[in-house]
Amino acid sequence: MTRHLTPQNLQQLQDSLQARRTLLAQQNNTHLGGQSRVDHARELLLQDGDDDTQRDAEREVDLARTDRDAMALAEIDVALQRLAAGHYGLCADCGDPIPLARLQLAPQALRCVACESLLERDRPKPATL
Ligand SMILES: [Zn+2]
Repeated sequence: MTRHLTPQNLQQLQDSLQARRTLLAQQNNTHLGGQSRVDHARELLLQDGDDDTQRDAEREVDLARTDRDAMALAEIDVALQRLAAGHYGLCADCGDPIPLARLQLAPQALRCVACESLLERDRPKPATL
């Protein structure tokens, strides 16, 4: 159970998560024009164009952006599930409480700063766009 957060803290963080979720879902919809991610990817793959290199580059950027949005949405969903289950705000790796200040900045954070930086260090850096 999350003990370092008051019910008011939790309520505030939940509101903020839901607001972010709504915003992301809207952005996703606008970007994809209401298509599912799979349809969107397929369409990008089937696009014809004269400049293959240019098209490939655009396709990659586009897919990467969609992936990032989908990831962000998934993180928020996990955070909301953890809230519902009562272990929101505890590090997913070490179980330590995640400070409120961190959660207010990043309500979807699943790990404490120490575990997150370990993860960042081990993870291959994504290509910068
Ligand atoms: Zn941790």
